[in-house]
Amino acid sequence: MKVAQTLLQQDLSHIALSVNSKTARDVEVALSKSVLNLDDFMALISPAATPYLENMATRAHTLTRQRFGNTMQLFVPLYLSNLCANECTYCGFTMSNKIKRTTLSINETLEEINAINTMGFSQVLLVTGEHESKVGMHYFEQVIDAIRDNVSYLMMEVQPLDCTEYEKLKTLGLDAVLVYQETYSPSYYSNYHTRGKKQDFMWRLEASDRLGQAGIDKIGIGALLGLGNWRVDSVMTALHAQTIQQHYWQSRVSIAFPRLRRCEGNSEVGSIDRNLNLPNERQLLQLICAHRIYNPYAELTLSTRESAKFRDGAMTLGITSMSAASQTQPGGYSKPTQALNQFDIDDNRTVSEVVNAIHANGLDTIWQDWLPFQLRDKSV
Ligand code: SF4
Repeated sequence: MKVAQTLLQQDLSHIALSVNSKTARDVEVALSKSVLNLDDFMALISPAATPYLENMATRAHTLTRQRFGNTMQLFVPLYLSNLCANECTYCGFTMSNKIKRTTLSINETLEEINAINTMGFSQVLLVTGEHESKVGMHYFEQVIDAIRDNVSYLMMEVQPLDCTEYEKLKTLGLDAVLVYQETYSPSYYSNYHTRGKKQDFMWRLEASDRLGQAGIDKIGIGALLGLGNWRVDSVMTALHAQTIQQHYWQSRVSIAFPRLRRCEGNSEVGSIDRNLNLPNERQLLQLICAHRIYNPYAELTLSTRESAKFRDGAMTLGITSMSAASQTQPGGYSKPTQALNQFDIDDNRTVSEVVNAIHANGLDTIWQDWLPFQLRDKSV
């Protein structure tokens, strides 16, 4: 477990001190380099880098266009189930929340895929809560088998699985897996995850090693910004991405920047002081630019959690992949309901409105950049 071992060796208190001690000179040194080290990344996300945001944005924009061209990948999340056997105090699907629980049948999933295809999407992210006994491998296999012909790139964000399970799903057509660590601080992690298998910090941390060993095409990582010290979690995310690239170079890496959002639910869910560690929009932009400058090859993803205005600005800097017109409850595309969302969405624009904004920024929309799974073997 090479990636997890590297992450475990880090001293988070030392990282916090290092970031906060960075000076303007450190930022200038970082910006003068063509290849940055982790210390330089710390400088770029430090308070000392705030006056350099414009320089960072210019550099991030240039690197993104060099590596990814004038393009923006578009995908959509498909929520299959809101069943969950975990207690995560920041999430609307948390086990103790008294909400109607649903898991889509195969027919209902096909209706969702049909609605999604009609919207123009063929890159799809399957999302579930984490409920192994009711929404486990058997269900995933059935769903993938049923929808694979209508999806050009298939991603998944479900409970962490073991290596053989990832290998099995890959043979069925799974391309990418997202496992967000939420926070890299074991103590913060245990505060927020109070029941269920998700309490196992190490099982989650070792997921990228299992994904790399299984040869999954893309590994998605990220921290839920606002749970812990966002700067420390971001340094760990940057190291996480780099370490995956070093050890599992066959896999691509994508980094997401979810910020904590309000969610409905019981009083427990609403009881956390969410503003304590939350980066503001300017700091989030600084973070996106820093990741791009540090790691020109990582894909950077932004969801509809953020506002339309923010997303329109970020798409010209480092972001290479976006969701649009997302529904975060099962069945939300074919049968919009009042069911509880996992979290609040801020960019509520239609697909065509998002596409127009992307074009207005001089970018092409990429709906499919791979041959559909069923055609891949025939093409070689
Ligand atoms: S964050 Fe995931 S695991 Fe935790 S309660 Fe929500 S759906 Fe379940």
